[in-house]
Amino acid sequence: MATFKAIRIDKAEKGTTAALVQFDEADLMDGDVTVRVEWSTLNYKDGLAVTGKAPVVRRFPMIAGIDFAGTVEHSSHPRWKAGDRVICNGWGLGETHLGSYAEKARVKGDWLVRLPDGISARDAMAIGTAGYTAMLAVLALEQQGLKPSQGPVVVTGAAGGVGSVAIAILSKLGYHVIASTGRMSETDYLKSLGAAEVIDRNELSVPAAKPLAKERWAGGVDSVGSTTLANLLSMTRYRGAIAACGLAAGMDLPTSVAPFILRGVCLLGIDSVMCPIELREIAWKRLSNDLESTKLSEITHEIGLDEVIGTGAKILAGQVRGRIVVKIS
Ligand code: NDP
Repeated sequence: MATFKAIRIDKAEKGTTAALVQFDEADLMDGDVTVRVEWSTLNYKDGLAVTGKAPVVRRFPMIAGIDFAGTVEHSSHPRWKAGDRVICNGWGLGETHLGSYAEKARVKGDWLVRLPDGISARDAMAIGTAGYTAMLAVLALEQQGLKPSQGPVVVTGAAGGVGSVAIAILSKLGYHVIASTGRMSETDYLKSLGAAEVIDRNELSVPAAKPLAKERWAGGVDSVGSTTLANLLSMTRYRGAIAACGLAAGMDLPTSVAPFILRGVCLLGIDSVMCPIELREIAWKRLSNDLESTKLSEITHEIGLDEVIGTGAKILAGQVRGRIVVKIS
């Protein structure tokens, strides 16, 4: 029977275990497209899955990993044929459907996006869910009417994956980007990505004294949540908008309605997992234009499949800068 290398998550008496194993091809789940996975990536959510720190995995055994890029091997889906180059992000990969830390994946053809011209499979995973989420956040801000002429934008969790890509895109689009980080030692890195200013995240992590604070930015991309997001909203200019995509500091949101009803501020929710395919295609096309490949290389670090579990713990500890690509085959 054919087997392939994969990172398998199993249920244990207490929590879960993760190990690099040989997985039987016969145990792949249903799907109309089988893909030879070439590259994957490590996002915050992957860190949660491989360490078992949060109940990301909802089926056992599971192959972890929420993103892949690779080549179609077999397809009975009308849109795809053997040899097509594809990307898959989310849709429950690594959560409810066997995921991407494996040499093979079998998925629904409806989940796949064609690899855009000008983006290699490795670059697609350097972008990964984190980068594509950053693009979704920028698209949401644009749909809200945000333009560089309206004022600065703030990016929180700046040295992380979503944050790094958001800075690179927003600066390329002409925005004055204020990067908020807990790692002021990364100031040069953040400026090289295009940040005009770098602020210490402590400025935004203490509860505000008043429901509204001095107006500092016209928009923002937040991957932190909690008090940070509450402060971002209270410091947003009249009719500005904040795109919320993460919870690195917590799920809670200790805010008031003041920014919404007194300044017309909008809070835009960003979900990458079940995002409709049409919007994914727009996001990937924009990424191929609005993200400079040299900047992408600067933020990317490569690891092998055997390093994923250890690096997963580091991403949760906030010790990973930028994006990680995982070489699969
Ligand atoms: P990373 O770990 O790469 O980045 C998160 C960054 O947040 C860190 O680098 C750090 O930046 C900052 N941070 C970490 N802990 C804290 C804290 N306690 N308080 C304040 N800031 C903190 O993760 P990703 O970029 O992959 O993901 C970021 C968030 O977005 C995660 O919560 C993730 O789950 C979420 N996400 C959501 C998606 C969606 O569909 N909505 C899709 C992708 C990600 P610094 O050191 O610069 O302060």
